[in-house]
Amino acid sequence: MVDVYYDKDADLGKLNGKKIAVIGYGSQGHAQAQNLRDSGLDVVVGQRKGGASYEQAVADGFEPVSAAEAAAQAEIIQILLPDVVQRKVYEEDIKPNLEAGNALVFSHGFNIHYDQIVPPADVDVFMVAPKGPGHIVRRIYKDGEGVPCLLALYQDATGHAKDLGLAYAKGIGGTRAGVIETTFKEETETDLFGEQAVLCGGVTELVKAGFETLVDAGYQPEIAYFECLNELKLIVDLMYEGGLTKMRNSISDTAEYGDLIAGEKVINESSREAMAELLKDVKNGEFAKRWLLENQVGRPSYNKRREQDENHQIEQVGAKLRSMMNWID
Ligand code: NDP
Ligand code: MG
Ligand code: MG
Repeated sequence: MVDVYYDKDADLGKLNGKKIAVIGYGSQGHAQAQNLRDSGLDVVVGQRKGGASYEQAVADGFEPVSAAEAAAQAEIIQILLPDVVQRKVYEEDIKPNLEAGNALVFSHGFNIHYDQIVPPADVDVFMVAPKGPGHIVRRIYKDGEGVPCLLALYQDATGHAKDLGLAYAKGIGGTRAGVIETTFKEETETDLFGEQAVLCGGVTELVKAGFETLVDAGYQPEIAYFECLNELKLIVDLMYEGGLTKMRNSISDTAEYGDLIAGEKVINESSREAMAELLKDVKNGEFAKRWLLENQVGRPSYNKRREQDENHQIEQVGAKLRSMMNWID
């Protein structure tokens, strides 16, 4: 098993006298900034004016300043902007305000791993990546627990990067649950692969293919929705709680027999070859290049594919059925 760091391994005191800039007050930003402040640390929020995030930061009791001002004030600078925005804000606002011995912090390795941000050699660069969305990072912290985090060191200019990273992770509650060490390369490549092959790309195509197969065979779309999408949550919740074994112990023997003999027919050798292709493009930087290019030209294929799925029959049927289940937010 890997090494796991807990509260006893991390010293918040390493951040004494250091101001932490949280740049961006979105999903991760609002959670990390508030958790750090509640841990007694000195936090300044860097957030542009004019949007909901700025208003939210004010409502939460911060006095947000520009990203440049926050970077200038702070010794520890955590960049919590969308990945494709980070390079521009870094070049324009953060880099001119970086001083030797500062620390640049990330919650995802994309920009460092694919050389979009190339920090000077005299700053620490590390990652503290909570393994959960921002609202959970905040809620669990308030409940006295924490979301597990990954820690990765990219540059240790001061000789204290690991201590600072562990202290930061403690500040957001991560060491309450456990912090696992990784590298920027491993975190970035596995994160991108997982969301493409399994969590997002794999699951959405699987759901659509199952739904379409039933509807094309003449079954009612409402019934197909329940069987191929709605019930997915029950299955995933069981896997989340106790792995494949708990899920299989909970479903009927009939469902389990079908599971055991049919799965490999759907996810077969050619699916595994496709996964290997995806991983290859993640590792050699092809995917990152395409995504950055897509952004430079205004996201044409992103927008087109998104619109196609928004208009998919499963979405119309789903909206109607969910309105009958008023316990769903
Ligand atoms: P969000 O999309 O929630 O970030 C929104 C923030 O970025 C807001 O403050 C927004 O301000 C600001 N912003 C957006 N566009 C611009 C722009 N062009 N210029 C300046 N500010 C801008 O990001 P996340 O919290 O989802 O992600 C932050 C980092 O954390 C990423 O590296 C991500 O990979 C990582 N991460 C995210 C997780 C998650 O659960 N979301 C989980 C683990 C890691 P405004 O409102 O004014 O637009
Ligand atoms: Mg991701
Ligand atoms: Mg059934």
